This record gives sequence, structure tokens and C-alpha cells, in this order.
Amino acid sequence: MTQAEIEALDRNDPLAAKREAFIIPEGLVYLDGNSLGVLPKAVQQHLKHVVTEQWGQGLIRSWNTHGWVDLPLRVGAKIARLIGAEEGEVVAADSTSVNLFKVLLAALRLRPERRVVVSDVENFPTDLYIAQGVSALLGGLELRFVKKSELEEALDHQTAVLMLTEVDYRTGYRYDMARLTQLAHEKGALVLWDLAHSAGAFPVHLNQHGVDFAVGCGYKYLNGGPGAPAFLFVARRHQQRTFPFLSGWMGHQTPFAFVPEYVAAEDIRRLTVGTPAVLSMSALDAALEVFADVDLEAVREKSLKLTDLFMELMEPLAERYGFELATPRAHAERGSQVSYRHPQGYAIMQALIGQGVIGDFRAPDIMRFGFTPLYLRFADVSEAVERLERVMQLELWKDPRFSERAKVT
Ligand SMILES: *Cc1c(COP(=O)(O)O)cnc(C)c1O
Repeated sequence: MTQAEIEALDRNDPLAAKREAFIIPEGLVYLDGNSLGVLPKAVQQHLKHVVTEQWGQGLIRSWNTHGWVDLPLRVGAKIARLIGAEEGEVVAADSTSVNLFKVLLAALRLRPERRVVVSDVENFPTDLYIAQGVSALLGGLELRFVKKSELEEALDHQTAVLMLTEVDYRTGYRYDMARLTQLAHEKGALVLWDLAHSAGAFPVHLNQHGVDFAVGCGYKYLNGGPGAPAFLFVARRHQQRTFPFLSGWMGHQTPFAFVPEYVAAEDIRRLTVGTPAVLSMSALDAALEVFADVDLEAVREKSLKLTDLFMELMEPLAERYGFELATPRAHAERGSQVSYRHPQGYAIMQALIGQGVIGDFRAPDIMRFGFTPLYLRFADVSEAVERLERVMQLELWKDPRFSERAKVT
């Protein structure tokens, strides 16, 4: 693609104006919105208001006057729209890891005669770790963690829960949610999808596919800020029978009755636990306003164009410098990131960050580039590839300081 064609893509981009809604450091090409979304201007303004007015002046009255107490459900409803769920099926709370724990335990309780959890051995570690903790708590489950190619075979009539992340965090491979949900249901199993790399990246259709449970992140494509609250989804049909093992007071039917016996709320609020983190919940709330008028089909369309362009421009570099594409080319089989394997991937990524192009690195050898259609331009894609070419041509990555591993990669 020529420079003129790339400029034309930006001129004709229906999402181009959305970039204005974000604060993007001058000259930076940010390809890591799949790990931490950039700061929406609305968040900056809203947090200032929440801190100075709601907290500073309103103090404890704000639980009622500013509806702090309803934030988990209100924010959940905004997320519901993005993932094909209804209001009242999604709540914002805790971290993704904690939500996985709550929901996996509850799902297992709905299949008391079964003891098998099936997942992808390459699933994000926290998902696998939580399953191991749940197994220890329940006195030993069979954790069937298998390769993608063996996943369908691993499902049987012993399977209680199929637990998967829709988009693989390393390669960007995207599962067929409709097909796997159906296969699991045919075996009588329940499904739990992790939407960490899906929510806000493309349209998700949880109810259309009959999904039982889901969890996801607030700080990735939803731009809720570092450590933003996560979310969880429970299909309406399961809610009354979803057992809240973390039976905290915020999930009680009447928290302010202060009675000694726990009685779970009738609705999804039963899966909330303690006092919500109002500041970070308010940040996520404001960040989601950016999506209010966004058509996720248009987001997906632009995401595919951005990633196609990146792969195309990377082809000559891949050949010359040995970058091996780890992401499927087929549109249906990928999310909104592109990854390359390279034995010097860590140092190359550090050098590239030094050139103002931020991606990240995942062990053992994956260079990961996330594409966020709300604030990326097509020109950013070509700029990123040009700067990477410079890093390779001038061998900038050989500087020893780029090989020193930081705590967070
Ligand atoms: C990012 C990510 C998480 C993060 O979990 P936290 O509890 O928010 O740290 C979980 N699962 C997947 C698949 C992820 O990509």
C-alpha cells in the first residue's frame, strides 16, 4: 500500500474523530491498548469532579446523592451493551482473577455430579491458576488443560465447565465462541468465557450464543485506567441458582439491615462482595461514555484494516530480519492484535519503545502489537513499521540496556 492510499484510509475513516476523545502523548505510537488503554479526556475531567465535589464536598452523603452505591450495576449495564448482554446481567467489580474465582466456583456448583474443568494450556496464567486454587478448595478436580488442537476432543460428559479466553493473549488467535459454546452445551457442560481481549475490541454476542458465564477486564480496550475494576456476566437464567461463595455484605439482599444471616440478593448484585472502589469505578464509568455512540461493527472493520495493513507492511521486514508471524491471517481467527516471534524479541521491543512505538513482550519470544481503532490512525501503523525498520537496520536493539529485564514486560 502506498503512502497516498494510507492517507486516504485516514481521510475516509468514520472513527477518525474519536481520537480527539483521548489524551495521546505527542509523537507516540501506542500499540499497547490491549494491555492498558490510553486516558480518555472525559476520565480526567470526571475524576477531578468526583474527587473535589463528590468526595471533597459531598463526603459520605455521595453514596446516595451521587449514586456511588449503584456504580457496579450502572457501569455493568454500559459494558453489557458492548458484549451482547442485557442490563442486569453484568456487574463491574473486583479484578478479573477474583471474578473468575467467584464464577468458576458457582458454575461448578451447577454441575455437582461432574469434576472436570477443560481449558487451553496456553490460556492466560491467572485463569489456570485460579482453576488450580478452586480445585484445591474443592478437594481435587480434574483440570484438563490441553492444546488448542485437542480442545474439542477433551470435552465429554464428565466436563462441568469449559473455561476459555476468547482471544489468546500471546498470539491473538480468536476462538469460535458460537461453535465451542454449542459443543460444550451438547455435552451438558457450562461455558465460562474470559473477554479480556474482546470487550471493547469488537462486538461480542454472549446471549446470542447462549453463553452461561463471562468475565473481563476494565483497563484494556475499555480504557478504564490502571487496575480498573473488572466485570462479570451471569446469564439471567442462571442468576437465582448462582451461589455467591464470596458472600460479602454488598451481595446481601438488604446490606443496610445489618442482620447476622447472609441472604443473597435476588439479582446479579449477589456476586458483588465489598465496598466498590469508587474512584476507579468512576474512571471506568467515564471511560465507557466514549463508547456511547460507537458502532462496534465499525470498530471491528477498522481493526481488521489496521491489522491487515500492519501485516502487509511487516512482510519485507519479517523476511529480512526473521520476524515470524504468530497471528492467524484469517479474519475470523484473530482479535485486535498482531504478534511476531523473534529470538531477540525482548531487546527489539525495548529499542522500539525507545523510538516512541509502544508494544509489549510476552515470554518466551512474542512481540505483541495491539490495535485500538478508537484512537489509532492508519498513518500510525506505517510510522510504527518505519521505526521498527530503523531499529533493525541500525541494530539499535544491541545496546545492552535493552536486554535488561524490567519487572513488568
Ligand atoms: C489481562 C488478563 C487478565 C488480568 O487479570 P487481572 O485479575 O485483572 O490481573 C486475566 N485474564 C486474561 C485472559 C487476561 O488477558
